[in-house]
Amino acid sequence: MRIWFFDFDGTLSPIVADRGAAELHPACAGMLKDLSRSPADCVAIISSRDFEDILPRVPLDDVIIGGNSGMEWRLPGGCRLSLGADKGDILQARREELLPLIEELGQLPGIEIEDKKWSIAIHVIKTDAGVMDNVAGTISAWALRENIAVHRGPDVFEIQLLPGFNKSVGASFLAGKLAVDSQHDSIIYAGDDENDAIAMWWALMTGGRAIVIGSRVDVPGAMYVKDQQALAEMVQQLRGNS
Ligand SMILES: [Mg+2]
Repeated sequence: MRIWFFDFDGTLSPIVADRGAAELHPACAGMLKDLSRSPADCVAIISSRDFEDILPRVPLDDVIIGGNSGMEWRLPGGCRLSLGADKGDILQARREELLPLIEELGQLPGIEIEDKKWSIAIHVIKTDAGVMDNVAGTISAWALRENIAVHRGPDVFEIQLLPGFNKSVGASFLAGKLAVDSQHDSIIYAGDDENDAIAMWWALMTGGRAIVIGSRVDVPGAMYVKDQQALAEMVQQLRGNS
């Protein structure tokens, strides 16, 4: 079996100024449909969006969908898996610590805060360079102090509230639940930002492959494609080669 992980924003969907308007690129929608019909392939979308936000953006019943960077999953047929079920207390404590500072940053011009419960995204696409530097400085100093992971995406700072959590943890949680065995199965991960890069290293370490869309991250051993159309073509090529 091959298990394919695809990030959503910037990977299956072009980055757009209004994140509420992001949708699957038609070439990727076709590619996902093809993959989901193939008995040799298993497809999972892993997004940092809130679970309820990502679900309607991928209207394909045969595809596994993960929100909150793989904290929560929906399998074909509707069964749900959650990694965070017993971590509510840690989450609550972290939120109480961090939310006042996040609210302060939210007062700056052009800043938009997206609270996704398990993580918080600070969107900076509508702001200027001065405010952006201010946010970058404040966030990194604070993340260092609190030992919190911040992933930098295109025009966004993504703050994970659970220490040690990232897309690699989310993806390997799903792989474990699906009894993926890297001796026999191959793992392919496609993404475009720092949070994905960690999961790409994991995929490559299992003997699998990684595909970077764009040029925002440097992942030795990964294949690079320029956009969604090229991603769909690369996937077809990889399927044809095996
Ligand atoms: Mg992305």
